[in-house]
Amino acid sequence: MMARTFMPSIGSIDELRELQLKGLQWTLSHAYKGSPAYRKKLDEAGVHPESVRSLEDIAKLPFTTAQDLQEGYPFPLLSVPFEKVVRIHASSGTTGKRKVLCYTQKDIDDWTHFFARCYEMAQLNAEDRVQIAVGYGLWTAGISFQMGCEKFGAMAIPAGPGNLDMQCQFLVDFQSSVMVATASMGLLLAEEVNRRGLQDKINLKKMIFGSERSSDAMRKRIKELLALEHLFDIPGMTELYGPGTGLDCKYHTGIHYWADYYILEILDPDTLKPVPDGETGEMVVTTLRKEAVPLIRYRTRDLTRMVPGECPCGSILPRHDRILGRSDDMIIFRAVNIYPGQIDHVLSGVEGIGSEYQIHLERREDGRDYMTLKVERDEGTDPSRDPELSRKIKEEIKKQILVSAEVELVQYGSLPRSERKSKRVFDTRE
Ligand code: ZN
Repeated sequence: MMARTFMPSIGSIDELRELQLKGLQWTLSHAYKGSPAYRKKLDEAGVHPESVRSLEDIAKLPFTTAQDLQEGYPFPLLSVPFEKVVRIHASSGTTGKRKVLCYTQKDIDDWTHFFARCYEMAQLNAEDRVQIAVGYGLWTAGISFQMGCEKFGAMAIPAGPGNLDMQCQFLVDFQSSVMVATASMGLLLAEEVNRRGLQDKINLKKMIFGSERSSDAMRKRIKELLALEHLFDIPGMTELYGPGTGLDCKYHTGIHYWADYYILEILDPDTLKPVPDGETGEMVVTTLRKEAVPLIRYRTRDLTRMVPGECPCGSILPRHDRILGRSDDMIIFRAVNIYPGQIDHVLSGVEGIGSEYQIHLERREDGRDYMTLKVERDEGTDPSRDPELSRKIKEEIKKQILVSAEVELVQYGSLPRSERKSKRVFDTRE
């Protein structure tokens, strides 16, 4: 039995809200005192830290964006004297300048603490051996997986990414029970274990996926090939410490996030007002204890939704869904906000079709907008099933996204593929 727990000691939502308010007030006065950039931002918005008296007052605060981080390069929004900084990480960044984030020793300690909580949420114990097959370095935070693992008390195997040969050998020799990897790495490894006939020689029970979206089909395949008990999703972005800011529990009903370390708002990316509970919107985060670079209403551009209700596990830590996509990818069709990730989700639930699709939007002569989905049949699916499949897809789209779409089934392999992100949305409307 583990002697200690890394879960918060709060027993009720009221206690959590009290802790969040204290953290919010601390963050505001800390940022105001320590960072000229934040002080300017808050002054311009006419908000003094002391004017925030309830959690609802968060709505008065200005937003922080990726641009703020880029403008302050190389050490943006730094709110402590430089001698308190003990480490930096950076996001490799596909657009514009890199985002560099500083950490104090307390930030690292906090991160390590709540990372240990991830392993506790996944119900590991001190006997577990965790093969960490993600990168170590400035751009990635494999080190956080390791520090959390050691703090928790399990055994870390800092394997690093790639090198399937070595990974397979470690799985056999060290009898790793848990593996941390990206989903694409997980799939490669699962296929390799299968090809080498190692299933009976390994002891892998759980996998924890970080840092990229994974389709349901891919997850199912990995789970089957490796006969895993559980797959967990670990969210994380460099701006908000890094990986480990939440984890789904064994019921997999959504990601419990560490609401004692940050406040999560889900806002409509257009109006920047909260969406109704359970609806999709942009994740906006405010940290409660972060010293070096606190975040005040940071717009992540990532889309998700809150999962309403209580989780069967009984944890009071709230849940958000997996990341559905980026707000920059949002489509407005007949006054409904749609994210490609939602279409992806619907399609992955229909048997007989492949994983590739395109969304075509056009305005026809009647002045109305129309959506056509081009969807590949699965490899072995006969074209005679087209009418049945397209009816099924239309019904599910109508039911889950509340819009009407036309569906065109196309041959397997006929839509272009890309190693990078495939273009899926073709919008010819004015
Ligand atoms: Zn739960």
